[in-house]
Amino acid sequence: MKNTAEAVVIGAGSFGSSLAYHLAKQGLEDVVLVDRFGIGEQTSPRAAGLTQQIRREDETTRLAKLSVEKFVDFTNETDIPLEYHQSGSVKMARNEAGVAQIAWEIRKGQELGLDIRPIDADELAERAPWARTEEVLAMWITPSDLFLEPRQVPQVYTAAARAKGATILTETPVTGLLREPGSGRITGVETSKGTISAPIVVDAAGAWTRQVADEEGIRIPVVPMRHQLFITEPMPGIRNEQPICRVIDANVYVRPCWGGLMLGGYETNPLPFEMRAAAPDFQIADMPLDLAVLRGLADLVRDQFPILQDAPLQTYRGGLPTMTADGKHIVGPVPGAEGFYTATGCIVGGLSISPGMGENLAQLILTGTSDIPLDIYSIARFAPDFDEAALVEACVDAYAHHYSEDYAALA
Ligand SMILES: Cc1cc2nc3c(=O)[nH]c(=O)nc-3n(C[C@H](O)[C@H](O)[C@H](O)COP(=O)(O)OP(=O)(O)OC[C@H]3O[C@@H](n4cnc5c(N)ncnc54)[C@H](O)[C@@H]3O)c2cc1C
Repeated sequence: MKNTAEAVVIGAGSFGSSLAYHLAKQGLEDVVLVDRFGIGEQTSPRAAGLTQQIRREDETTRLAKLSVEKFVDFTNETDIPLEYHQSGSVKMARNEAGVAQIAWEIRKGQELGLDIRPIDADELAERAPWARTEEVLAMWITPSDLFLEPRQVPQVYTAAARAKGATILTETPVTGLLREPGSGRITGVETSKGTISAPIVVDAAGAWTRQVADEEGIRIPVVPMRHQLFITEPMPGIRNEQPICRVIDANVYVRPCWGGLMLGGYETNPLPFEMRAAAPDFQIADMPLDLAVLRGLADLVRDQFPILQDAPLQTYRGGLPTMTADGKHIVGPVPGAEGFYTATGCIVGGLSISPGMGENLAQLILTGTSDIPLDIYSIARFAPDFDEAALVEACVDAYAHHYSEDYAALA
């Protein structure tokens, strides 16, 4: 096995694979992407695969918009096929707070150059005949939003990284970080198959992010949170050109999938997952699922999607995205550990932002600056001695209110 590299990226999920590709594309000849399991087998392939370009912070909107452009251009750039459906997405408000949010998102999105605009009931009936809008007070559509098959994202980015000269090591857990005595600098990783020295080490280990860094006393304030979705059997009239639909106050999304409909959402009493209590060989496939949570979410939107009520299910699945206390990613250098970076705190949106985040984080690592500033995602905004119980509480709250911010309070 190689024992030196210019950069080691830990975790071949969507964050790690995109970063490895962009580091290689931006000039590193010797990038190693290492995963304890196979390529993109953990949370990334279990995602819904939706994009939503309008976000709360300008930087996140810019990264999400860039990411959609990069998905669309990916095959052109790399010669590697990537399938996507640019069907647009619609957001529905059923109460006054939601109406204010719709207005804020349209204004903010247009300011940032997004194709977001109001949509009326007639246009939605044409685009998504299975959606009902009698109780809906306001809606927007972003026609350039898209959905894709989530498992493809880490696979195509890993393939693209390999084509640019990166080395991919699977079934190779990172078991520790190498640290220069005295300076605090991280100088490489220990793996189950030997050590790799590298001046740049990035922790993109998803639900395992904390375990990778903890041993060196580096505390990363993320909480893995169970998130689930179901997919119905095929039904007549469902087509991939039909838009993603989200209902704000219910925290629920619906989209066409494999001839049926997919539904997922954010319950108000989610399950934070304690990785330290999990078995050493735990993987996401072992996580217990709870279909009752999804039935409850479907019930909240029965008036908008009556077609879902008695639809037989094809499958359901779930994963462990990482939440943060303030709902923003944790990406960039770690103070006090020179050479060490994180790409985590995906906030259930890591798949769709990974192309733009990978490009900008690679720039930041290699040049000290990036086209889209990443300062707001710095881990430095949290005290290293954060309180564990308060962190879990804040992350549960951020998850439970994922769609419904207090937009009236935003500028
Ligand atoms: C049901 C569901 C729906 C979702 N819907 C969407 C959506 O519509 N849009 C969206 O953008 N996001 C969505 N998400 C979130 C999305 O899945 C995540 O943001 C994204 O997958 C995070 O990627 P990651 O690279 O951080 O994690 P992962 O994909 O889990 O990758 C982390 C990798 O690190 C590896 N690893 C861990 N420890 C080590 C170690 N010690 N050594 C080496 N390797 C290690 C793991 O094996 C794994 O492959 C959804 C998630 C779920 C569960």
